[in-house]
Amino acid sequence: MKQFKNLIAGEWVTGASEVENINPSDTNDIVGTASHASAAQVAEAIAAARQALPKWNAGTVQLRSDILSTISNELFARKEELGELLAREEGKTRAEAIGEVGRAANIFRFFASEVVRIRGEKLASVRPGIDVEITRDPVGVIGIITPWNFPIAIPAWKIAPALAFGNSVVFKPSELTPGSAWALADIIARAGVPAGVFNLVHGSGPVVGDALLNGVDAVTFTGSVKTGNQIVRRATERLIRVQAEMGGKNPLLVLDDADLETAVSCAVDGSFFQTGQRCTASSRLIVTAGIHDRFVDAVAARLDKIVIDHALKAGTQVGPVVDKRQLEQNLRYIDIGINEGAQVRVKGELLKRETPGHYLSPTLFTGSSNQMRINREEVFGPVAAVIRVKDYEEALSVANDTSFGLSAGICTTSQKYARHFQTHAEAGLTMLNLATAGLDYHVPFGGRKGSSYGPREQGTYAIDFYTILKTSYLSV
Ligand code: NAD
Repeated sequence: MKQFKNLIAGEWVTGASEVENINPSDTNDIVGTASHASAAQVAEAIAAARQALPKWNAGTVQLRSDILSTISNELFARKEELGELLAREEGKTRAEAIGEVGRAANIFRFFASEVVRIRGEKLASVRPGIDVEITRDPVGVIGIITPWNFPIAIPAWKIAPALAFGNSVVFKPSELTPGSAWALADIIARAGVPAGVFNLVHGSGPVVGDALLNGVDAVTFTGSVKTGNQIVRRATERLIRVQAEMGGKNPLLVLDDADLETAVSCAVDGSFFQTGQRCTASSRLIVTAGIHDRFVDAVAARLDKIVIDHALKAGTQVGPVVDKRQLEQNLRYIDIGINEGAQVRVKGELLKRETPGHYLSPTLFTGSSNQMRINREEVFGPVAAVIRVKDYEEALSVANDTSFGLSAGICTTSQKYARHFQTHAEAGLTMLNLATAGLDYHVPFGGRKGSSYGPREQGTYAIDFYTILKTSYLSV
């Protein structure tokens, strides 16, 4: 059986305990064991990363660019094989998983070019005979903590800019997806990154995540609001940089003038694909009265036809929920919705397939109010609720009445409403007649309100988190 080890100071090492990694499509299939590091090993990884910093920084930007290109090339070349591993341990379909590896490859390629675009500025001083230069220094050792739902792409969009801009890294992936993290780390280690510059430590949040927060110079986190809150508090106590991208309760507005087919696709894809396990999933469907019944009927008819099965089986459109705990959370929220008085138009059922897995069919609530818990808390699964409203103005007000602010979509043929929504939706990402956002790897990604803390990730803006400005005065 494959053992997913830790990478510390350039060596692959076993940790303090071994934890089985189970395939959610077939719980009899053990993908491998993750070797969970001890707190002392995390401290060793941080020390190795700190020691490696000067050498890494003394290297040329060409070297860093070449290394990132090598990583990108290998990801492209092996995207089918890596996609299969990802699908096997996480449960998204083979096509989605291969797409994710391709996205990670593009991210490394993008930052391989960004490396040579680190800009400074030279200004005249207000005093004679003096120049002022503004340059960017690396931050130092970056702690990277990631979730399971995009186990290669999310680490890629943190690791690539961290390395590109001269930092060293200690990466703690989700305990549910150690195989993808190990495969990515193996590629990075073999691409020519000097020992200690990139380290991987497996393990739980309370042990390994917590130990990581003790020694790094900055932490970038993606995950739930609850964990994000703890991490932000810990980081601000130590006065280190922190970036946290968290959950969403994303609205999709469907207006009377929407193209019905487009709206149905946006709702079905946006709410239920990848088993609804996306931070940008549109779990609140806010629908105006004139289109409501036609829309609900059409969505329900489409949900009936979704093929839910083993992630690696040909023809599967939606795989299982990631694990038993997440499955139980989904079932709990379905009960909560029923007890709150929402009507069940399509009821999520546990499904039996050839292999034992965490298969759950979609749930569509109707007649729900925005005050219900199913509309205020992130379920993170194939559960969506329709909220009926009278017009666009009410739809917008309901959409913004949430503590989250990640993504917000609208289906309409009206330019006026589309533009108004773009300006007034309280979200970091907006979508017009589209199911999802965030696939473009060259533009910023992130939210507002309780969904996001700190500077934006991805694209040309990523540099702001991974570098520190230095102002130098030079008597010339
Ligand atoms: P999670 O918060 O449970 O875990 C995320 C990571 O934090 C894991 O690596 C975990 O081990 C670690 N962790 C947990 N407790 C910790 C602690 N006390 N100290 C340090 N680290 C700790 O989230 P999850 O279940 O893995 O992922 C699902 C969540 O991620 C959802 O809320 C989803 O919306 C969010 N998400 C957000 C984005 C985004 O970009 N906004 C993208 C994907 C997922």
